[in-house]
Amino acid sequence: MNAHAPIPTLDAGCDIRHERGQRAVFCGLTGIVWLHRKIQDAFFLVVGSRTCAHLIQSAAGVMIFAEPRFATAILDERDLAGLVDANEELDRVVRRLIERRPDIRLLFLVGSCPSEVIKLDLSRAAQRLSRSFHPDVRVLSYSGSGIETTFTQGEDACLAALVPEMPRAPEIGAPALLVVGALADVVEDQFARLFADLGIAEVAFLPARRAGALPAVGPDTRILLAQPFLTDTARALEARGAERIAAPFPLGSEGTTGWLRAAAEAFGVPAERFERVTAPGRARAAVALDLYRDRLANRRVFFFPDSQLELPLARFLSREMGAELIEVGTPYLHRQHLAPELALLPAGTRVVEGQNLDAQMDRCRAAKPDLTVCGLGLANPLEAEGLATKWSIELLFTPIQGYDQAGDLAELFARPLKRRARLEV
Ligand code: SF4
Repeated sequence: MNAHAPIPTLDAGCDIRHERGQRAVFCGLTGIVWLHRKIQDAFFLVVGSRTCAHLIQSAAGVMIFAEPRFATAILDERDLAGLVDANEELDRVVRRLIERRPDIRLLFLVGSCPSEVIKLDLSRAAQRLSRSFHPDVRVLSYSGSGIETTFTQGEDACLAALVPEMPRAPEIGAPALLVVGALADVVEDQFARLFADLGIAEVAFLPARRAGALPAVGPDTRILLAQPFLTDTARALEARGAERIAAPFPLGSEGTTGWLRAAAEAFGVPAERFERVTAPGRARAAVALDLYRDRLANRRVFFFPDSQLELPLARFLSREMGAELIEVGTPYLHRQHLAPELALLPAGTRVVEGQNLDAQMDRCRAAKPDLTVCGLGLANPLEAEGLATKWSIELLFTPIQGYDQAGDLAELFARPLKRRARLEV
């Protein structure tokens, strides 16, 4: 991929449709699985039912061997029937937890469908508990409820809850870069090195690895979104004066280059320096991607709406791997945040926002794609019908951003095709 290739700024003419109907998505509690690894002294206490506890336990099954940093305060029948004071119960659970785990610096009370049904006000509970544990533990709340959300919105809600806690940056007239969205530590370190090599000195990441290291925000802050599902977080940061840098997302070599270039241009990095700093990464990614191009080129891919990563992934598969896009579903389409991605998709790409599950299943079956990217719930039935599938949730659990992960990203899509080819033999 040519580093000089222009990033179009206008929607190049996707066929954008909207659907409403039955949906098949995970809820926002799922985000705890990657967020608890990222913020190393935080604890996530879901205030929910046994169903919520099961979801978290199975999504994060590997954690049962470690002292986990998430748990569920289970609302039982008496709470739900209003027979006991759920606030008192919650205070008791939190007190016991903090006594047992003095390493906790930041506690998130995570709302769920049941806590919303009984209208348990977790933001007031968080304020109350924060006052009683100040200054050792900060208590915040957000909702991971599944009623009207997708699973990546849990991260958005969590980061948005952190924004009011961020200190105010002094106005010194020089911009500072804030990279927003949870990235695996290894990816974050690679990007930090690249920004340093580009000469962008003031760089911070949200979320920070430690609760006490929240970055500052103010009118000099320029935000670069690392994930496409951070609508509320971006809005909260903009309300504090930060300005968003429009960019594609750092998936694949081209996306990474476009993302870094957008930051470089906003910070006045000379073009020659940008080329020099990014050339080795682009070269490594080119070698890695070559290994998978044969398997992915001309493959017909269908995306069900699930993670909100669908547009950048589709752009990567189409432009860098030569795949053909049948349909790109996305739960929500933030036209501004996704504008650089829409502009890079092939003209006429069918982008479907929202979901009408039955109609979409019919279209998928009729199209007989070579690869279907979908949620866990749809993967088994589609596999049983002979379609190769990729679980979209894996793309959140695996480090896939940046030059050195581009090959891993391609491999994630190539693997189900390889497995199916073997089965067919
Ligand atoms: Fe709990 Fe609602 Fe998520 Fe189900 S959808 S696990 S009830 S928060």
